[in-house]
Amino acid sequence: MDGTVIRLKDAVVSYREDVALEGVSLEVVRGEFVGVIGPNGAGKTTLLTVINGLARLVHGEAWVLGMRVDRRNGIELRKRIGYVAQVENIDPRLPISVRETVLVGCYGRLGFLRRPTTVQRKMVDGLLELVGISHLAERPIGHLSGGEYQRVAIARALAQQPEILLLDEPTASLDPPAQKDILSLVRLIHAQQHITTIYVTHDLRTLPSVCQRVVMMKGGRIWREGSPEEVLSAEVLAELYGAQLPVEPDGGWSMRSSQ
Ligand code: ATP
Repeated sequence: MDGTVIRLKDAVVSYREDVALEGVSLEVVRGEFVGVIGPNGAGKTTLLTVINGLARLVHGEAWVLGMRVDRRNGIELRKRIGYVAQVENIDPRLPISVRETVLVGCYGRLGFLRRPTTVQRKMVDGLLELVGISHLAERPIGHLSGGEYQRVAIARALAQQPEILLLDEPTASLDPPAQKDILSLVRLIHAQQHITTIYVTHDLRTLPSVCQRVVMMKGGRIWREGSPEEVLSAEVLAELYGAQLPVEPDGGWSMRSSQ
C-alpha cells in the first residue's frame, strides 16, 4: 500500500447524451486535503459521486480505500466515507433532534436494528461539542439556521468515523460570517483528525486555506492542478472562470470580479 486512498483512471461518466466527466485521472493520498474548484457544470459533484460509488463509469476505473468501485460495493464504501452537501431545507415539523441526527451517522458501522452503545453516545456528545452545538442537542433538526445545520451535518459525517470526507459546497447559501465559521471548523477538523478530505466549491472565497492541492475542473476534465501557490494566480483563475479574478488569501481565497 503506497498511501493512495483514491485512484481514478480515465473515468468517464455520462448522463444520457451529456458527458459529465471526460476521462478524469486523479490520485489522492491518505490525509491529504484537496480542493476542487471550477465553474458551474464543470463536473465537480460528479467527481464526488464516482468516489462514493454512486456514478456508473462508462469508461475507466476507480479504486477507493482499496476497493474497486462498482455498484455492488457502493454501500460498503459509503459506510467509510462521510459526505456533507449544501444546506438542506428540513420540514420544521420533523420530530428528530439534533443529537438523534448526529447519532444516525453511527448506524453504518453499527448495522441495522443495533442500538448505539454508551461509547457511541459519548462520541456523539464529543462531536456536538467539537462543532459547537452542544447547547442545541435537543432542538428539532428543522429549527436551525443554515450555519447550525451544517455543523450538524459535519458532526453526523464525523460520527461515521470516516476514512474519507467529501464536502460538496458546504458553505453555499450561508452568509459570510457563517461561511467563515464553517471554514474554520473544516480547518480545525483536518488539523485534529487528518481525514483525507475532498472539498468542492465553485466560489474561491470559500476554498479553505488548509488546501494542500487544488484541482481545477472545466468541461468535465481536470484542467490543471497543483499547490495553491502554483495555481491560484489571477491569470490562471481568469482563464478557468473566463473573468479577471484577483486572489487574496484571507482564511479562504478571495474572488472578486473586476467588472
Ligand atoms: P455546480 O458547481 O453547478 O454544482 P458541478 O461542477 O458540480 O457544477 P456537475 O453537477 O458534476 O457539475 O455536473 C456536470 C454536468 O453533468 C453538467 O452539465 C450537468 O448538467 C450534468 N449532470 C449532472 N447531474 C446530472 C443528472 N443527474 N442528470 C443529467 N445531467 C446531469
